Formats: sequence, structure tokens, C-alpha cells
Amino acid sequence: MKLLFLGPPGAGKGTQAKLVADKFGLLHIAPGDIFRQEVREGTELGRLVEGIMAEGKLVPDDITTQIIEKRIKSPEAAEGLVLDGFPRNVAQAEALAKILGEMGTKLDLVINLEVPEEELIQRASTRRVCSGCGKPYNIKLDPPKTEGQCDVCGGTLITRPDDNEETVRQRLKVYHELTEPLFEYYNRDGIVVSINGCGDVDSVFQRIAEALEQKGLSGKRDS
Ligand code: AMP
Repeated sequence: MKLLFLGPPGAGKGTQAKLVADKFGLLHIAPGDIFRQEVREGTELGRLVEGIMAEGKLVPDDITTQIIEKRIKSPEAAEGLVLDGFPRNVAQAEALAKILGEMGTKLDLVINLEVPEEELIQRASTRRVCSGCGKPYNIKLDPPKTEGQCDVCGGTLITRPDDNEETVRQRLKVYHELTEPLFEYYNRDGIVVSINGCGDVDSVFQRIAEALEQKGLSGKRDS
């Protein structure tokens, strides 16, 4: 099964993509998580992308595509994958089609998480991420069991440097200009399903699970 999550920043893509990946044994691939880890580790790539991310702009396509291609072709993706945050523009979508085409496969479904814009800005202010493992939280909608501490690894929860209102608005602008054209791109194949992303994590996950069931994908495994 090969899924892609689309949706504006703060729609809950990361949270839901991870849940779907865990439930179906798929590899979760999120360039944002990969880049944040590189920044945490202070690598050359981390130093290169840190400023770009802080401004809410996109990392160059060639760098991003190369990193994602490696993950897509890795043995961990044998059961299938959930793409979260890639592609983010038409050039990346074309690169993805080429990579999957070379592997003799294609995307099964594009899940579009819909959340009103004002709620996205509101959500960013209550979003936190674990400084250790990168797990996302929302202190209102999806708080950790112990305040300020990750349920999974005990790491300290921090606010992402790109979750301030100015950068969130810039990321929304990039989303509208560069990522939204992907709906038309994937609609040509009739594989887009829109899901209401409002409400608590479990309710949204339930809607996604129902959509996968309706599309006959809940039992699908890649061979
Ligand atoms: P995210 O965690 O998906 O919100 O991504 C955080 C940031 O990482 C974005 O604002 C971009 O700077 C960078 N990024 C994530 N995915 C991509 C991508 N597909 N192409 C270029 N830059 C990306």
C-alpha cells in the first residue's frame, strides 16, 4: 500500500500518517522529520536546511528528492509506505512518479486532510514536538501524559522554530502556491480522498480508516 498525505501545515498529517503507518506496518517517510533530525545532529545537511526551514521555505527539490528516493527504495518500505510532506510541488510529484514507475508501482491513495485556515494558525501555537524522537503533540488536542515530556522516549517537548505565526503564514503561502496544484495533478488519476481533519486525533483517524476500508485498501500489502 502506498499512501500520500496532503494538507496544509498544522492539519495533523504527521500524527495521522504515523498512526496509519503503525497500524498497517508501512514505512512513514516525512522529509520534515528527517530535516529536523539533521538539524538536531548538527550535520552538514542540517546546517544547510536550518535557515530555509526557519523561513518557511522549501528545501531545494534535488536534495529532498534524493533523500526520499533512498527511503522509498529501502527494504523497510517493502510492505508499503506513507508519504507525509513529499511531494510538495509538481516537480517533486513528477520525480515521485518516476521513482515509483521504475519500481513498477504507483500511489494507491492521496489523503487530503482539510482544516480551516484560522484553526491551522491556532493549532500551530499549541503544537509541540519531542526534542528526542520528533513525536508531535498538541497541548490542547493531544497532550502528553506528563506535561512537557514525551510519552514515548521521555524527551523534552519543544515548540518548532517554524511554528511562530509569521512563519506559519509563510508556510501556508507556499502551500497554496506550490502544493495545492497537486490536487489537480492527482485528481486526474481519481485517487484523492478528502477527510475532515477537525476534531480529536482518534476521530480523524477513524475517518481515515473508514476511507481506506471503502477503497478496499485496509488489507492491502505490497509483495
Ligand atoms: P513539515 O514537517 O512537513 O511541516 O516540514 C517542515 C519544513 O521542512 C518545511 O517548511 C520545509 O522547509 C521543509 N520540507 C519538508 N518537506 C519538504 C519537501 N517535500 N520539499 C522541500 N522542503 C520540505
